[in-house]
Amino acid sequence: MKKDTSVIIAAGGKGTRMGRPKQLLKVGGQEILIRTISSFKKVKRVKEIIVVTTPETFKVVGKKIKGLKFAAAGKERIESVKNGLKEVANDVDLIAVQDGARPLVNPDDIETCLKAAEKDKAAVLGVFVKDTIKQVKNGKITKTLKREELFAAQTPQCYRAEVLKKALKKYGNEIFATDESQLVEKLGINVTAVIGDYKNIKITTPEDLIVAGALCKKKK
Ligand code: C5P
Repeated sequence: MKKDTSVIIAAGGKGTRMGRPKQLLKVGGQEILIRTISSFKKVKRVKEIIVVTTPETFKVVGKKIKGLKFAAAGKERIESVKNGLKEVANDVDLIAVQDGARPLVNPDDIETCLKAAEKDKAAVLGVFVKDTIKQVKNGKITKTLKREELFAAQTPQCYRAEVLKKALKKYGNEIFATDESQLVEKLGINVTAVIGDYKNIKITTPEDLIVAGALCKKKK
């Protein structure tokens, strides 16, 4: 049986909500993207890492970490992931998709998520929300959702290779999908929710940099 794992790191965003590209901003003294890649380097079963980004960013990252594969960023995240998928070796069993902007992802949680995907075909790391979530339309609350059922999806999102390929082939033109698992869900596959860690934040807005910096200090 095939046992290898590929990782697609989606790092092609423009950092609109940060006000500047964030891949090479530092948290805890290290570039966000380097930190993210390094977590996957610690996972033994990972055979290859494909970094989807701009050629300029790849140049910087590729100098510090050897053996990475490059794919060009797309306009939307799903396009970036599709570009990454083209670079995945033929003989891999599992594919993990990771936000480049989640530098605090823990190698043990990556392993757990990969194992769940091996067993169940698809698994997503995440955490149950702490806030009460409401639906709002035109400035008015239209619904209060059941908090105990609400799971904030993080990454990695891990799949049997054939499952991710099928989902992107069938629904990959839905370019505004904010993650891949929603496309896998559309295939009728039950995606397993793997409980991760609240520390695995996505660096999106300037205050996230402060929080991530503090969490890095705490780790030491
Ligand atoms: O925009 P969002 O916060 O959902 O981005 C999540 C991840 O997807 C980030 O790491 C970002 O760099 C990546 N992304 C990408 N290509 C795009 C847009 C976002 O790889 N066109």
